[in-house]
Amino acid sequence: MDAGLEETDLGTRVGGHDVVDPGADPDERAIEGALRPKGLDEFVGQRVVREQLSLVLDAAKGRGHTPDHILLSGPPGLGKTTLAMIVAHELGVPLRVTSGPAIQHAGDLAAVLSSLEEGEVLFLDEIHRMARPAEEMLYVAMEDFRVDIVVGKGAGATAIPLDLPPFTIVGATTRAGMLPGPLRDRFGFTGHLDFYETAELEQVLRRSARLLGVPLTEDGGWEIASRSRGTPRIANRLLRRVRDWAQVRGDGTADADAARAALEVYAVDAKGLDRLDRSVLEALCMRFGGGPVGLSTLAVAVGEEPETVETVAEPFLVREGLIGRTPRGRVATPATWRHLGLAVPRGTQPDLFDAADDV
Ligand code: ADP
Repeated sequence: MDAGLEETDLGTRVGGHDVVDPGADPDERAIEGALRPKGLDEFVGQRVVREQLSLVLDAAKGRGHTPDHILLSGPPGLGKTTLAMIVAHELGVPLRVTSGPAIQHAGDLAAVLSSLEEGEVLFLDEIHRMARPAEEMLYVAMEDFRVDIVVGKGAGATAIPLDLPPFTIVGATTRAGMLPGPLRDRFGFTGHLDFYETAELEQVLRRSARLLGVPLTEDGGWEIASRSRGTPRIANRLLRRVRDWAQVRGDGTADADAARAALEVYAVDAKGLDRLDRSVLEALCMRFGGGPVGLSTLAVAVGEEPETVETVAEPFLVREGLIGRTPRGRVATPATWRHLGLAVPRGTQPDLFDAADDV
């Protein structure tokens, strides 16, 4: 377990500056923790969200109040958890961490909420996956700082109101569209994180290389950044793979040659697409003739959950114009066929991107 990270039944409490990614293995978690920026000034990119957030925090600090609840949305690995930690750090308060899937009953949420201390920040990751009854309890807690504890069953059941000290919820979601309106409305500030530019990822990499003690050349940084799918988590992960290659087969320096050689070993192509991305594109073109094909059918074809395809692979593929979303399903674009080195079939529509959100 990482220093400063205390896991309890009531969520994970983060003392100073640490990492929370319950799914990751302990080594990955420790390294992610070490690389996480601690303050807003160290957080690279996302200029608009950073500026808005800094105003929210400064205003709250100035007034001596807890800030409004904050919702962060965007694909995985773009910095939602990091920003939640930064919020707590900037406010000088502890961060409590839990996630939607961990809260399956209203009682689970009541236990977490009733143990919060004044001013604490509660990070609710994957908030769109919380159970409905818990969601309703959360509405009241966010608005009135109260939970109603139900005692007894059936006709004899009574709700005992329990007042809570003020706190701030930082919710994170990869699927903002799936949040019910009343929940979304209770966040005073919503920040949407977008994919990073290559130059920004290069900056992330320079900082990480310094912290990890990896000699990284300018062209090495550029090569890794441009294959990182616009995602800092991927950039940091690729940097570690390039470091391995450089130490074992090279002279220890992460330069462009080392980056190209290492990323070939790990099957990351020139656009940064990995195995999952490519199998989605291959299935779309080779099994379904370029579509349209429904998300669940496509997911079965690549042996993944629809949510994984939709939240992990698709946002970047859509952004790159490698997949089109239409009301009838996913379709290949001319760029998809070309990326796979295949001839573009006649009749392929060039611009069908994002015509529908949840097809
Ligand atoms: P999310 O919660 O959105 O999945 P995280 O906050 O866990 O993403 O970020 C993943 C990793 O990427 C972290 O270890 C962090 O070091 C790095 N990271 C994310 N955003 C930034 C950023 N803007 N600047 C520097 N590093 C970042």
